[in-house]
Amino acid sequence: MIPEDTISQIRERTDMVALVSEYVPLKRSGRSFKGLCPFHSEKTPSFYVHPERCFFHCFGCQTSGDALSFVMKVEGRSFPDVVRMLAERAGVVIPVLDDREDAAYRRARAREERLVALMDAAAGFYVRQLREHPLGEMARAELERRSISMETADAFRLGYAPHGWDSLARWLREHEWSAAEAEEVGLLAPRRGGDGHYDRFRHRLLFPITDTNGRIVAFSGRVLDPPPDEPLSDRMEGAKYVNSPEGPLYKKGEVLFGLHEGRVAVRREGWCLLCEGNFDLLALHQAGFQNSAAPMGTALTEAQAKLLRRFADRIVLLFDGDRAGRKAARGAWPVLSAAGLAARVVTLPPGDDPDSYIRAHGAQTLRGLVDAALGVVEFLVDDAAEEAGGDARAKAEAVAALGPVLASVDNPVEVRLYIERVARKFGIADIDAVRQQLRRGLRASRAGDRRSRAQAPENQGREQVRPPRRTVSIPSLEGELLGAMLDSAPLFATEDGKKLEKLLTSPELRAIFQTAARMIEMRGVVDAAALLAECANSAGLSWLEDRLAIQKYDADAAARVVRDGVPRLAKQGVVREIDRLAADISAARRVGDEERALELTRRRDELRVSAHRLMAKR
Ligand SMILES: [Zn+2]
Repeated sequence: MIPEDTISQIRERTDMVALVSEYVPLKRSGRSFKGLCPFHSEKTPSFYVHPERCFFHCFGCQTSGDALSFVMKVEGRSFPDVVRMLAERAGVVIPVLDDREDAAYRRARAREERLVALMDAAAGFYVRQLREHPLGEMARAELERRSISMETADAFRLGYAPHGWDSLARWLREHEWSAAEAEEVGLLAPRRGGDGHYDRFRHRLLFPITDTNGRIVAFSGRVLDPPPDEPLSDRMEGAKYVNSPEGPLYKKGEVLFGLHEGRVAVRREGWCLLCEGNFDLLALHQAGFQNSAAPMGTALTEAQAKLLRRFADRIVLLFDGDRAGRKAARGAWPVLSAAGLAARVVTLPPGDDPDSYIRAHGAQTLRGLVDAALGVVEFLVDDAAEEAGGDARAKAEAVAALGPVLASVDNPVEVRLYIERVARKFGIADIDAVRQQLRRGLRASRAGDRRSRAQAPENQGREQVRPPRRTVSIPSLEGELLGAMLDSAPLFATEDGKKLEKLLTSPELRAIFQTAARMIEMRGVVDAAALLAECANSAGLSWLEDRLAIQKYDADAAARVVRDGVPRLAKQGVVREIDRLAADISAARRVGDEERALELTRRRDELRVSAHRLMAKR
């Protein structure tokens, strides 16, 4: 637990403009700064940062919050993580609540930092070898063959793991890195039947793999042709790719190659291009598709899909045009769909992968393919029809297998179109037969689900969907006046300010007024983030977010608005009261209660006079 005070301190001491500028360029606009929103794709800026209020807001996608939530969203990191990161940055010390727990945390953290530093040092070593080692040229030639520029290689810190058995081991020893720790992170392996270590990666092109915090947690090494003068006896057939083994930093299937480098683009575009290979990813980056990631040779895992979901809600699968690629796309669907990710599929011509396709046809042509990508359901239908071929039994089974896929579609019109597509692609004239077979497949799959659910009682539900924003209509004059008060806090202490509280008819605005007034009494200012947090459940929240994002008035103008507006609002109230009295008077007359009618009439006349006076006063 981190004390609330510490969090406000971090919020106050963080230079939000500097922080946000690391992700998007900002320009001054009055008291705010504005820029292109990092959370949705746009051409004209509707994203505002209000430094004094420690608060950002986008008028386009309605995302808003403080420095902490900004980093949480843009980096996809957890709250405690972000608190620590910003505390360090702002020079705020997080007080120790529990000595023992804190000491354990610090120890674990120090160890992790050492391991990360070690990986980073190794990456630096490999980067130098790519340029300096006599055989580094072979790795550079491979990059050249793939049209990967040295700029891209540098940006991703690609390296060369030297030929031989102990180049890295020796270098680490000379620089006093612990061999035991290098073994833990999988850089070195212990020698069989003896002491000492040898290098895990030898004569390979190395791709450092970073987690979403930008720390290198693993390496992926691609095989190269054997060196020309190597004796045949030394040659061993290696796997095309060797990845770091799992360890304290790296869990297989939990990271995606390129996601850290592409995260801001993925967040901004709202979708991510998923490719298979490391070279594909580099080629995509070079071609301007920074919003890409690669699952590093494994089938897409649940953890990876969840990770993607933190940055985007749509995925475009860009797998090889061969059978294996299509199979991978098929396999990815249930994982993506369970994570709540919508998907489309680009099918490349057989024999092509994204890397070769871009080299042959250029980025623009690929962009065209991406724009025209098939929805995943259409892809699965077409693919199933192709796989089934002409065999009747295979067709029937393939149609049944599509049952759960079509059942995942909500829109009835779409469902209808998909059913027609199934009929067309499988060459079945009878739509009812198709429908029956789809239903049969769905029933079979649900029965299977029930069985597996019964076996897994801890089965967790789907990720929670954000509830829709509740909004109410805000009376415009009332909103205008409360807004002016929020622009200039001292107005809360004035006579007009106090009157306003009673005049507000919107319960949402009144609640906001009272919360803000309390805050000003205690701290002398409106803390936007704290005010938003306190009003988080109010239906007036979106009004408040919009209003706090931009300071509309300076102190003088705000005072003028309130001075002129409060009597107008008071008059509106009186007029409403007069109308109500008129209705009551007719009602009293209808039942013959003349006495009450007279009494009400007298009150109405008084109100008329005071309404008149209200407006004449200024
Ligand atoms: Zn936005």
